[in-house]
Amino acid sequence: MSSLTEIAAGVFELRLPIPFEDGLVNVFLFTDGSEVDLLDCGMNSGESLEMIRSAISEVGGTKLRRLVVTHIHPDHYGAAGVLAGEGRADLYLHRLEVPLVHPRYVELEQLVAEVRKYLLVNGVPESEAEVLSNSQRALSQVVAPAEPAVQLDGAETLRLGRLDLRVEWTPGHSPGHVCLWSAKQGLLFAGDHMLPELSPNIGLHPQSTPDPLHEYLDGLQRMAASRPRTILPAHGRPFRDAEARVEILTAHHRRRLDQVTEIVGVRELTAWEVALELWGERDNLYEKRLALQEGLAHLQALAVDGILEKLVAPESVRWRAA
Ligand SMILES: [Zn+2]
Ligand SMILES: [Zn+2]
Repeated sequence: MSSLTEIAAGVFELRLPIPFEDGLVNVFLFTDGSEVDLLDCGMNSGESLEMIRSAISEVGGTKLRRLVVTHIHPDHYGAAGVLAGEGRADLYLHRLEVPLVHPRYVELEQLVAEVRKYLLVNGVPESEAEVLSNSQRALSQVVAPAEPAVQLDGAETLRLGRLDLRVEWTPGHSPGHVCLWSAKQGLLFAGDHMLPELSPNIGLHPQSTPDPLHEYLDGLQRMAASRPRTILPAHGRPFRDAEARVEILTAHHRRRLDQVTEIVGVRELTAWEVALELWGERDNLYEKRLALQEGLAHLQALAVDGILEKLVAPESVRWRAA
């Protein structure tokens, strides 16, 4: 079975291998004569790049013109440095993603130190914080960074292939996450914002926006209100009912907010203690860190809403009922 499917005239979905989530990331090719535009580009691996190159020639392309990246996670941005840059494709990236690239994938040491401190103030034991803060290093190996030719604010109209697409800034999963929307065709290229099976990770951490959960939930409402006919996610299969999916995702976060409120109750807790009560001990280090960040996003949203109090000191951050 080919991993390349035509989903609309001149628009193709290509499924590339990744070593996490459900094992695949969907990227999209848009053709215009011999020129091809690409939305997201998979990781920087030989196999994945080979699949992109043969897909380009399979759709009759000889040149990659534009590369738009929904956000800078390795499965979406990893191969950017190979495909875009001088003499190659022009990279389009939201401006809130741009400052994340260098500390995350090039000069890691400062971010590793910053993450370690953030883990400690949130109640993670010293020995665990060491290992967790180091987990960033592995990810940088599958990413080749590139400088954007265009920094997006959101609300731009971009021509990809023969389609005009509007950039929809949808922060939450990442500060500068964007979806692309074709009102004419009713197509929403949703990146990691709206997935059919997974609930994307929404975390508070040193590189996130200060209140990612509220932003994420607002973005879901906005995207559902545009009433897309088909949603093309970066993971999983295309789906149709945005409103129903948004309902499920929102209900999931509401339940989690209730759980967190209940756990914090009258006791004063660190985010790590809350995460342990929510999810128990996890073996996978990466999952542990995601759980802490996800718990923190919920705690922060509850503090913003005045349901919890957030108590900060240089050496610790604690939460209690308001
Ligand atoms: Zn992502
Ligand atoms: Zn992803």
